[in-house]
Amino acid sequence: MTSSLLSADEARQRILGAVQPLGEREWIELRMALGRVTAEDVRSTLNIPPYANSAMDGYALAAGDLPVSGTRELRVVGTAYAGRPYSETPQAGECVRIMTGALLPAGADTVVMQEQVWRNGEAVSIGAGHKRGQHVRAAGEDIAAGQVAVPAGKRLTPADLGLLASLGIEKVSAVRRPRVAIFSTGDELRSLGETLKPGEIYDSNRYTVHGMLSRLDTAVHDLGVVRDQREAVRNAVRQASHAADVVISSGGASVGDTDFIKQTLEELGQVDFWQVAMKPGKPLAFGKVGSALFFGLPGNPVSVMATFYQFVQPALRRLMGESVALPLMIKVVCSGPLKKAPGRTEFQRGRVESDANGNLVVHSTGDQGSGILTSMSRANCFIVLPAERSNVEAGSLVDIQLFDGLI
Ligand code: AMP
Ligand code: MG
Repeated sequence: MTSSLLSADEARQRILGAVQPLGEREWIELRMALGRVTAEDVRSTLNIPPYANSAMDGYALAAGDLPVSGTRELRVVGTAYAGRPYSETPQAGECVRIMTGALLPAGADTVVMQEQVWRNGEAVSIGAGHKRGQHVRAAGEDIAAGQVAVPAGKRLTPADLGLLASLGIEKVSAVRRPRVAIFSTGDELRSLGETLKPGEIYDSNRYTVHGMLSRLDTAVHDLGVVRDQREAVRNAVRQASHAADVVISSGGASVGDTDFIKQTLEELGQVDFWQVAMKPGKPLAFGKVGSALFFGLPGNPVSVMATFYQFVQPALRRLMGESVALPLMIKVVCSGPLKKAPGRTEFQRGRVESDANGNLVVHSTGDQGSGILTSMSRANCFIVLPAERSNVEAGSLVDIQLFDGLI
């Protein structure tokens, strides 16, 4: 049980160091596997493409029949369609009319585009300048049989689904979805459908967290709003940690009179309370309750999203066996000045766009208070300002992290 000042990078490293990937896996029908993480390498049992075929509509021939200079006339002896091959063997001086995707006839190794020949009845004239093997897709040029098509630890994209389908694969072995229990703490919080009394607000954190968890394809167990009472917090933590691989709370984690998260976790788990040198989102609790990982996020809505993005996201990715890379940083020009005091890493909210010259420019989304959720809603990236940096002048370079579909 410690309280210490950590950099955001140190905090992420410590968290990743404490996460063991889930071992369990399940077979998932391909169409349902979007966003799931592969549990093992998927190797191809086929060559893709399975056979040499034409990349163009034109004429298939043996390169030996191409003229070195002038033109040459070849006899057209048949047609090869996609799915309906030409099954005989053309002789020297013969060619076959061929459509895109059709199997190359025996002996043919080159295709001449139909726009580049002169057709005269049953013959075509072909000029010089063509190359052996042109417009032919070789068998196995995309993937050879035996090669890894999709590695273990890959979150499947629509492109992956297509790739796996092209291999005839109907089901993939995916890491099981982590179960994540969430709750909010606060006497001022009301759920949707309830009426607000003076001094009350609607709980927004469960909606942002639920949304981000859905994007990461986890199974969410929503325990609702928990009152600022010792017994209520204790019950919620107990129930959550029994049901889930990961527990995420928001609010109640600082040192206010009604902040019961800390003492509850001292009783029920091994959780450290960190002061992370970042803004927004200074207080962060991380550790274990039983076998569940526990994240105690701050209460302020923007802090919740920033700490989720920086810490919970990489932890969940590792838990699901995904190979976790550091968030991609991109240097872009900042359109206006930004206020920043040295000391903490700031994750300001920005909108990156391309300017009239096609260069990337980031604009601040306005008021950067940790309660101003519109600053997140309008943004598509964090502007990451390192701890030591002070005010940013208009036109200077800053680093951004794209939300990349998570937020
Ligand atoms: P706390 O960390 O509990 O002191 O909360 C810090 C600030 O965040 C307070 O203004 C709370 O009202 C607000 N807050 C806490 N939880 C939520 C929530 N679930 N939804 C919206 N605002 C919240
Ligand atoms: Mg509170």
